[in-house]
Amino acid sequence: MASQPSLKGWQTWGGRHVFLCDGRVMVGPDWGVTCFAVALTTVLSVAFWIFVCPTLAGAPLVTSVGMLLYALTLTLLVATATADPGILPRAPYVDDAESLANASAERFVRGVTMPLKWCSTCRIWRPPRASHCTECNVCVERFDHHCPWTGQCVGLRNYRYFFGFVLSVCSLCAYTLVVSALSFLHALAAALTDATSGGDRVGVALDERPVPAALSIATALILLCVCPLLCYHCSLTCRNATTSEEIKGTFADRANPFDQSCPANCRHVLCRPLPPSRLHLRSAAAEELGGPMILRNDGGGGEGGGGVELPMAAADEGPPPLRTATLPGSEGKRRPAREQSSPDDVPV
Ligand SMILES: [Zn+2]
Ligand SMILES: [Zn+2]
Repeated sequence: MASQPSLKGWQTWGGRHVFLCDGRVMVGPDWGVTCFAVALTTVLSVAFWIFVCPTLAGAPLVTSVGMLLYALTLTLLVATATADPGILPRAPYVDDAESLANASAERFVRGVTMPLKWCSTCRIWRPPRASHCTECNVCVERFDHHCPWTGQCVGLRNYRYFFGFVLSVCSLCAYTLVVSALSFLHALAAALTDATSGGDRVGVALDERPVPAALSIATALILLCVCPLLCYHCSLTCRNATTSEEIKGTFADRANPFDQSCPANCRHVLCRPLPPSRLHLRSAAAEELGGPMILRNDGGGGEGGGGVELPMAAADEGPPPLRTATLPGSEGKRRPAREQSSPDDVPV
């Protein structure tokens, strides 16, 4: 008798993501908005190539640059939307979940104490900078924010794609705005010098070049929204901070231990090798569920109750840390837990 085929990791997924191609592609719950963003970018770009570029000298070159920026924008959008942002796999079960929910744990990063939070949904201790996204229903390392336009969380593993996407949108809009405005201004200049034109010279230019005028206004409005976003993320990157930390005021009353010099922060956030994904979506479900490290306390001596398992996710960043956990009723008797960390986690 043939055995029942086991379910794959993506088929028992606890988050709200959508999977395509047998788990090879994962998109966020807001994938419809991402499709709208792709459609909007495509419509505006095609209108630009057809109605604006041919009106200027050097049309093939102008069109080629526009197509290059469009391809770059779409590539980075898709990369952000489909990359694993740094999801921490859930622990399968925890015997002592109630005690763990009331326990406290902390970690020291460059001399600063970072409290760890227990996620009762994912059943893991979240490392510093990780957060649970309520849209996706998963914990994400170095969580920045949930981006509705890419339909996905922005975190440790896709932040650089998101940053590149915002930068490329700004470049595409600025380019489209400049070229469209030039095209319209040429028509306006021609109307102003044309003695046969009536009094409304702007109206004449609008009749002749309606698409360049409309694209100028549309791209200017988009730039007004996206430019401040780009400046904000430049500032975050220079300080090695995240949107989530800024909103929560995590480092409002203390120094950010992850903040090194500006060049080091930029290298660390945008250029360091990406850690591998912790997900095994196409493996058997049990393997996926066993993804996080489940570490047993060393405190077998009985202080605070030995033998309690602490499901812990590996750390995002920070030097080899000291992690301690305190269970209710064992205040002041902290027991160190073993931990694994990789050199990639250490900030530059
Ligand atoms: Zn969680
Ligand atoms: Zn999310």
